[in-house]
Amino acid sequence: MNVCKKCDSEFESNYCPNCGHPQVIERINGRYILSEIASVLNFQKGILYTIKELLIRPGQSIRTFISEDRNRLVKPIMFILITSLIYTILLSIFHFEDGYLSYSGDKESTTLKIFKWVQGNYGYSNIVMSIFIGLWLKILFRKYPFNFFEIIILLCFVMGVGMLIYSAFGIVQGLTHINLMQFGAFVGFVYTTYAVGQFFEKRKLLSYVKAFFAYILGMLTFTFIAVGAGILIDLIK
Ligand SMILES: [Zn+2]
Repeated sequence: MNVCKKCDSEFESNYCPNCGHPQVIERINGRYILSEIASVLNFQKGILYTIKELLIRPGQSIRTFISEDRNRLVKPIMFILITSLIYTILLSIFHFEDGYLSYSGDKESTTLKIFKWVQGNYGYSNIVMSIFIGLWLKILFRKYPFNFFEIIILLCFVMGVGMLIYSAFGIVQGLTHINLMQFGAFVGFVYTTYAVGQFFEKRKLLSYVKAFFAYILGMLTFTFIAVGAGILIDLIK
C-alpha cells in the first residue's frame, strides 16, 4: 500500500484516489524547466493568457475565475505584486514622471514619508488601496452577490492591468521623451471603470457610473487617511 504524501490516504495506484496527488513526482530536469517557462508564457493559461483575457473581456474572465475555474488565470495577489514590480522597475530605468500617484509637500512631514513609502512599494500599496476601493464597491453594489473578498480579487486583477498600462506609457515616454503619463493615467482610469462596471453588470450604464465613483472615493479615502495619519503623527511628535 502507498500512503498519500498530501492527505495520508492509503492506496495502490500511481495517483491518490482521494486528492489526485501522484505517488512519485518526477525529478526536476531540463524538461521541467522548459515546461515551467512554457506554462508562464502560454497563451492558453499563465500570465500572458491572463493579460489577454483581462484586456478583452475583464468582467467575464474574473467572474469565471471567482465562480468556476481558478486554474486559467494566474493567482490575483501574485498578479498585482508582479505587475506593480514591473512598473517600479521600469520607473527606475526610464525615470518617467510617476503618473500613478504623486504627492508633493513639506520634505520633513510624515505625510510625505508615507507617500514615498507608497511609491516605493506599489505592490503592497495597491493591495491597501484596493481595500478602500473595495469597501466603496461593496457599498455601491450591495445588492450584488459578491462578498468583500471576491471584490478584492476583482481589484487585484483590474489594478494589475492598470499597472501594465502605466508601464506601457512609461516605456514610450522614456524612449520618445514625449510627456504621455497623464494620458496613460487617463487610459488606466477608463480601463478600471470599464472592467469593474462590466464585472457587475455589463449592460447597465449605472454599473459603470458606480465603478467610476467607487474608484474615486476609494482613492480619496486612501489619500485622506494617509494625509490624516501623517498630520496626526507629526502633531504627536
Ligand atoms: Zn491524497
